[in-house]
Amino acid sequence: MMRWSITMGSFAGTAVKIHITFILFLAWIAFSAWSRGGPAAALDSTLFIVLLFVCVVLHEFGHITAARRYGIATPEVTLLPIGGVASLQRLPSDPAQELVVALAGPAVNLVIGLVLIALVGSIHPDELTQIDNPNLSLVGRLAIANLFLAVFNLIPAFPMDGGRVLHALVAMRVGGPRATAIAARIGQALAFGLGFLGLFGNPLLVFIAIFVYIAAAAEAQMSAAHEALIGVSVGDAMETRFTPLSIEANLGQAVDALLATAQQEFPVVDAFMKPVGLLTREDILKAVREHGREDPAARFMRSGVESVRAAAPVASLIERLQDPKGAGLYVTDAAGKIIGLLTRQALGEVMMIRAARPDWRFDRKA
Ligand SMILES: [Zn+2]
Repeated sequence: MMRWSITMGSFAGTAVKIHITFILFLAWIAFSAWSRGGPAAALDSTLFIVLLFVCVVLHEFGHITAARRYGIATPEVTLLPIGGVASLQRLPSDPAQELVVALAGPAVNLVIGLVLIALVGSIHPDELTQIDNPNLSLVGRLAIANLFLAVFNLIPAFPMDGGRVLHALVAMRVGGPRATAIAARIGQALAFGLGFLGLFGNPLLVFIAIFVYIAAAAEAQMSAAHEALIGVSVGDAMETRFTPLSIEANLGQAVDALLATAQQEFPVVDAFMKPVGLLTREDILKAVREHGREDPAARFMRSGVESVRAAAPVASLIERLQDPKGAGLYVTDAAGKIIGLLTRQALGEVMMIRAARPDWRFDRKA
């Protein structure tokens, strides 16, 4: 999904991608090491960063492998200069599973770190803070970096894995919805403390604190949306009273339908009521500027809109509906006939009802 990424390969159903900024980052590392210590230093620094990021990918595959055990697929993982981003299809809703998935990443780094320490013999405690010490062997520095990664990722705040660990532990005691708010608040308090400490000498800490603070807020919002939609099916949330446009309809008829209804998305259907495309209000307005009444409306529709089944859980579709370029999704029956439309607006209404009455049961007969 991320733009400007190069696919390196695919492992067990997960595509490994490298973002273009990571390659620029590597080039910058090599260049600055070269200008300080010549080609040997450039090679050493670049090799170190590459190996470090191999460990970061293995960390992500820790999460991915654990998630797969619970039936959660991960289509891709993208490597950025700030780390790896694994796009898990969803988060496990069971706190025990969430805990395992969150811990699996840092556990990988811990194991790598310990294995590497065993390889170099031993590491003096003083050396743990000397990751940039050039006298230390490459393996030694890699071992320290992995231990650092394990500890750093366990900081109990979103978006670090520690945030998920904290969320899972709190959820085991108080349940999902309240756990998100509590975990986010702890994360934000921690960010605040971190930033305060940073004011006395470490500007980098202030930067990390601001990042953690914003991420914690965003995560809280996203999790709240997911939780509001737990137990809600597509059939509960979909719009069932809508006007479809025939594939034969012309632009004039599309404009008439736009004026006659409050609808913003018009599914275009064939003679068997099977959806072939979607025409949004924007699409119609754009077409009207340059085309006449008699032009076929289907010429301006979006094709390739996904269809979902009424029984599917709505929470799994949030990301897809949030895509700003996307419109709604069709809801089809077993025969492929359209029976509803799932729109952002409908999703918003479900969330508003859940916000007003958290225990409201959606039980629509579609
Ligand atoms: Zn992680």
